[in-house]
Amino acid sequence: MTAAIDKVVLVDSHCHIDFPELADDIPGVLQRMADSDVKYALCVSVNMRDFPRVLTLATEHEQIFASVGVHPDTTDAPEPSLEELVREGRARRVVAVGETGLDYFRASGDLEWQRQRFRTHIRAARELDKPLIIHCREAAQDLLQILREENAREVGGVMHCFTESWDVASAAMEMNFLISFSGILTFKSAAALREVASRVPSDRLLVETDSPYLAPVPYRGKTNQPAFVRHVAEGLAQVRGASLAQIAAITTANFFRMFVALDK
Ligand SMILES: [Zn+2]
Ligand SMILES: [Zn+2]
Repeated sequence: MTAAIDKVVLVDSHCHIDFPELADDIPGVLQRMADSDVKYALCVSVNMRDFPRVLTLATEHEQIFASVGVHPDTTDAPEPSLEELVREGRARRVVAVGETGLDYFRASGDLEWQRQRFRTHIRAARELDKPLIIHCREAAQDLLQILREENAREVGGVMHCFTESWDVASAAMEMNFLISFSGILTFKSAAALREVASRVPSDRLLVETDSPYLAPVPYRGKTNQPAFVRHVAEGLAQVRGASLAQIAAITTANFFRMFVALDK
């Protein structure tokens, strides 16, 4: 192998560096990314009130990309309209719509509002021709059905922080989605997830931190940050019998193909 192929360039495909745990030390976050060969990170929006902060981070720092969307768990902020998502999503540094999806774990009662919000995001993504960032917790069957009904395959995207079964991964991949693994992959209890991660084709893999949450081993329980995606990638390399450089090359290429080559 040549030195060029060995050079590690990683992307954290999902983080929340605008959250208070990280927002006060953006220079430090960026420096530690550089020290760990994490060249880019996608800062994911969770409500419209804070979206301007997310966009500003992406506008001011070439390492940071942004998304626009309202998390399925957000209940204390105004409902986004299709027009609003499309208008804000046109910004050049916005490379995706989300995070959106369904979360039946943290919400209860009649969740029709959540399914409706999800449909609105898919329609916005199709109108913008930008991919989706999907959050799914204990709702996989409804989620896949809505992706099908709304023709999400037209834009594709990522199943972020994936913790579902192989069957769910396959169904999502058939609809043009990538599968992103987080620090959970490095947890002792995650044997079933590692088995899924060993089977996903190389051209469908992404890595992420979901920081400030879900720090990978050996930082479990601490504040997570984009630099730690290197440990997620190392975990994935181990599961697949690959080198860190190989996992970095694959996941970075997948990220750019899905999210940044928007003139596709
Ligand atoms: Zn999420
Ligand atoms: Zn997230």
